[in-house]
Amino acid sequence: MESYNRDWMLCKKNDPKYRTGVKKFLEFAFTQGKGNQVVPCPCVKCNNERRKTRPEIELDLLKFGIVKSYTRWVRHGESFECQVDANALDDSHQNIEHNHMSDMLYEAFGMATQEVDAEVGEAVDAKANVTSLAQEKHPAVTEHLQALADGPGRVVATMNSYMVNGCLFRTKDSEMERETQNSGIVVLGENDVEYYGLLREVIEVQYTGGNRVTLFMCDWWDVHSHGRGITKDCFEFISVNIGKVLGNDPYVLASQVGQVYYVQDVAKPNWKVVVKANPRNFYDVPEILVQDSIGETTKV
Ligand SMILES: [Zn+2]
Repeated sequence: MESYNRDWMLCKKNDPKYRTGVKKFLEFAFTQGKGNQVVPCPCVKCNNERRKTRPEIELDLLKFGIVKSYTRWVRHGESFECQVDANALDDSHQNIEHNHMSDMLYEAFGMATQEVDAEVGEAVDAKANVTSLAQEKHPAVTEHLQALADGPGRVVATMNSYMVNGCLFRTKDSEMERETQNSGIVVLGENDVEYYGLLREVIEVQYTGGNRVTLFMCDWWDVHSHGRGITKDCFEFISVNIGKVLGNDPYVLASQVGQVYYVQDVAKPNWKVVVKANPRNFYDVPEILVQDSIGETTKV
């Protein structure tokens, strides 16, 4: 596949380079699929959550700008592998890759640095963010985090399975022939929102100082649309609409995930019921004390 330069994504919207880039993106997006008339729109307003026609997307991208972290066009038919070989990337590409990683790391570590966010203003670049924190010797900045921010990260391995938090995970594609289901992912987002998804890739990234971090690339169901993307019945069973996928930000740190299983909802073909696995130390499930008839207390 022809690999397009993604430099233009960082340019201003009125830059001719950006306009040319938009044309290239459209060309890519509308030749990858099976002649789809509409594809996800990566403008900052739609964030790949709305599907639009070519002229609509062109207008949106010129008007609102493109989501800058969306440098790997996985929602538009680009596979992960085609960009994995970091050595093959030219300098500019490496830069974009780094920015992409930075955005992601910012997301990943947003929680850790949240309380000092006000001090660093609206910095969205993890490097700038972490470095300025480091200068202030903030306790939230560990050596490890600093190394991550130093980037650029280099993908050193992709795997089909990975053991973390007491659970074995497998990528969706690799478990096709298996009876067991190990690709269901749950991750706790902001405001205790649980995101459910499917594991697509396990990626190990190396940073300066030999630090390695494992990322999961996932498809996430749309847990924001209550009723259409996710439902909870009177028995507190959660179901997800597998036809509704969230657009952006496919990556999470492997260390943050828990495991779930999906069971087909017999009444609704597009829906699956979420069953939480029994991961150790992931959910803080309080022990329920049951008092039986003879007055002895049993832990359940
Ligand atoms: Zn749009």
